[in-house]
Amino acid sequence: MTHAPSSKTVLISGASIAGPALALLLHRHGFTPTVVERAPELRTGGYKVDIRGTAIEVCRRLGILDEVRANSTDMDGGSYVDAQGRTIGVLPAEIFGGRTEGDDEIMRGDLARILYERTRDDVEYVFGDSIEALHDDGHGVDVAFESGRRRRFDLVVGADGMHSNTRRLAFGDERRFTRYLGAYISIFSAPNRLGLTRWETYHARPKKLISVYSTAGEQAHTAKNLFVFSAPEELSYDRRDTAAQKRLLAEAFAGDDWEIPRLIADAAEAEDFYFDTISLVEMDRWSTGRVVLVGDAAHCVSPAAGQGTGLALIGAYVLAGELAAAHGDHRTAFAAYERVMRPGVELNQRFAARFAKEMTVSSRWKIALRMAMVRTLPRTPWKNLIAKKIRDDIQRAANAIPLKEYGHEHGARPERHGARRHASAPA
Ligand SMILES: Cc1cc2nc3c(=O)[nH]c(=O)nc-3n(C[C@H](O)[C@H](O)[C@H](O)COP(=O)(O)OP(=O)(O)OC[C@H]3O[C@@H](n4cnc5c(N)ncnc54)[C@H](O)[C@@H]3O)c2cc1C
Repeated sequence: MTHAPSSKTVLISGASIAGPALALLLHRHGFTPTVVERAPELRTGGYKVDIRGTAIEVCRRLGILDEVRANSTDMDGGSYVDAQGRTIGVLPAEIFGGRTEGDDEIMRGDLARILYERTRDDVEYVFGDSIEALHDDGHGVDVAFESGRRRRFDLVVGADGMHSNTRRLAFGDERRFTRYLGAYISIFSAPNRLGLTRWETYHARPKKLISVYSTAGEQAHTAKNLFVFSAPEELSYDRRDTAAQKRLLAEAFAGDDWEIPRLIADAAEAEDFYFDTISLVEMDRWSTGRVVLVGDAAHCVSPAAGQGTGLALIGAYVLAGELAAAHGDHRTAFAAYERVMRPGVELNQRFAARFAKEMTVSSRWKIALRMAMVRTLPRTPWKNLIAKKIRDDIQRAANAIPLKEYGHEHGARPERHGARRHASAPA
């Protein structure tokens, strides 16, 4: 039995995690994906991201798990230090990262590179361009690009992150869909001044948290500096003006001790400076007509959740699978994609909203209390119970989305869509 596909060509906006993962799977399922990325080349910078639970299984099915493991950050642990740099307490390995066996951690840029290298021979990538306008006439989508080019696709997918351009064009102003969680995050690379190897050092100040870490291998000579500060109201600044954001960060940490003045000076030099709100993206629906969103564009869970990358991988897997199962019928596929994903996404968003409040501590005495806990934790009889509670919460969030088998996702050779056999029905 053959099934003529109703949709075949798919434009994906964004080449980070969700975009290339979706392109890989769509190609395997017999579609023809094109990826457009605004950056002039693949963005390989970034921070370490956890891959846990269901996302590990997605990596296995994508055929990239061995490479993910080979690029693991291999962090040994972390410790809190006081303003003089003295260790207050070491986080036990079983609590640091809340990981269980099989979970892994990789730099976002390494994962993006692995996915890109797996797809670049089969998938058309267009760098340095962006969608300027979309017109969905019910039979296809006419796309005008900033470069002036115009093309028509059967479907368009926004995999372009929290500040999704596709979402803005198809659904409207970003402010309708974002929920600010009361804090800002900044991250940038700098010289490894603290001489860290596979180690993360935290320093807490009222309403602020600073973390400096360095992973292994080629990345050992640099450190990542991560700054979080709470702010009751959103700040007003131009998101394209990096110099203004560097000034806002410097103002937020002005007068603070420990290594902060040196680290802030490093921020001024950093070329990969990142600064953003900690926010959720909450939408009633992730598709309209022939346009659909995936990953952070659809449902950013914020860095507070530590599951955004996992959800981007899972979302790509489910969306590609449902499109294949529905033989390209986007209405059926988009509805099924949302049914599978939404409960797990919402669980992760609740988790993020709770955790965002706990990232910083409001006063000196509360910090002292937290540090006393960190200091005594390794010696308390409840250490294992606390570790288990942290792990159980994280694992519940990381395993919240059930994975079906759609066929082809394990790397079988794609058949041409017109002659494609019936895709295996979802379990
Ligand atoms: C500091 C920090 C720490 C984090 N830690 C973790 C963690 O521990 N675990 C975890 O799972 N997740 C973590 N995350 C979240 C994770 O990075 C995201 O959830 C994940 O990268 C989402 O992937 P994505 O592909 O949906 O979007 P993104 O990674 O945001 O990628 C969007 C892509 O779209 C491109 N783009 C943007 N605009 C356009 C346009 N107009 N046209 C074309 N392309 C465009 C961008 O350049 C980018 O390449 C963290 C995030 C941050 C910021």
